[in-house]
Amino acid sequence: MSGLSEIFGQGHNAYFSNGPIARLSFMRLNNQLLDKASTHPSAKYLTFEELNPLRTPDGRLAFNKYDDIADTIGRPYAKDEKTQIAEFNPDEHRPTLIFLGLDLEGKYAVSGENAHLGQYVGVPYFALDVSSNRYAELKESQTAAGLKYVPTRVDLTLDHPQSAIYSHARSLIDWNNRNRYCSSCGGRMLFTHGGAKVICPPADNGVLRQRACPTRIGLHNQAFPRTDPTAVIAPISADAKRVLLGRGKRWPANYFSCLSGFIEPGESIETAARREAYEETGVHIDRVQIHSSQPWPYPSTMLIGVIGQCVEGGEAITYPETELEEAKWFELAEVEHALNNGANPMWEPPIKGYSGPRVPPSQLMAHQVLRGVLKLFHK
Ligand SMILES: [Zn+2]
Repeated sequence: MSGLSEIFGQGHNAYFSNGPIARLSFMRLNNQLLDKASTHPSAKYLTFEELNPLRTPDGRLAFNKYDDIADTIGRPYAKDEKTQIAEFNPDEHRPTLIFLGLDLEGKYAVSGENAHLGQYVGVPYFALDVSSNRYAELKESQTAAGLKYVPTRVDLTLDHPQSAIYSHARSLIDWNNRNRYCSSCGGRMLFTHGGAKVICPPADNGVLRQRACPTRIGLHNQAFPRTDPTAVIAPISADAKRVLLGRGKRWPANYFSCLSGFIEPGESIETAARREAYEETGVHIDRVQIHSSQPWPYPSTMLIGVIGQCVEGGEAITYPETELEEAKWFELAEVEHALNNGANPMWEPPIKGYSGPRVPPSQLMAHQVLRGVLKLFHK
């Protein structure tokens, strides 16, 4: 151990992140490479229906080959971006297709079958939205093979590498589906950069759009996927011996977690954490330390876990707003016991034989921040 690990301890690799796929984002600019990648026999397609991925009977992600969908999607990257803009037809169906990147180690491929893309060798991964009826035949064959789309609100059942593939794919499909029309002029958008960018084209079928898009002044007629930062806050008392947890109005009885709230424009993570802690509970925190972060694909949030220490005498709970049902100070030993024995998703029944305060499971940011508090202060 040396350097950062020596000072801060081992870093936390969050669930929903840190997968096996290298995004190689520069490759998105090259339709020739994307065409080769997307039609390659080793390419793997994760299909989604209404934002739920295809699964094997034992719940793992299931992938299709290009051959399975070639008839439906054709070759979406056969032309370069300039030609696509020039020939843009707003009524033409374009698949919602995302280039996720390459598995450079080719773990999931038969050896010798990897795609060679420029200087990179690996298995290309794509995500495809098949919610539309035009994929009915594909979906029938998937069902016949025992594969299915399982409606899931929050998916904590995948293994860590698959959770990262799923999270990237789900957020990008959702973003593409929400950005079919220009937010400025209302015109149909063109997806480009392997699904990581949309452009407002100047013309439909060669005819200039009647209303000049305000975004076309300068080079701003484009949009990129967004991610919404949210602070997940563990306030600790001034003497660092207790931690404050809250309970939402619709949560099950006895279920507690960290405080949380969106970071607003013009706020730093630290000022947002102080504001949220005050607005939800009335406590005054001052010193804020960022613990770690986690992408949260519902639809595209960035959870930033922080620990915030109360100022002397700032621990009184007064509930300035009425978002929480309850907030409560807990001794660190009680939190440790809960994390070790009573941690599971709130939509599941409490763990048998456990009657203490319930807390989120290890896949969630709140659990990891509380572990961070214990590591620092529970001696
Ligand atoms: Zn526009």
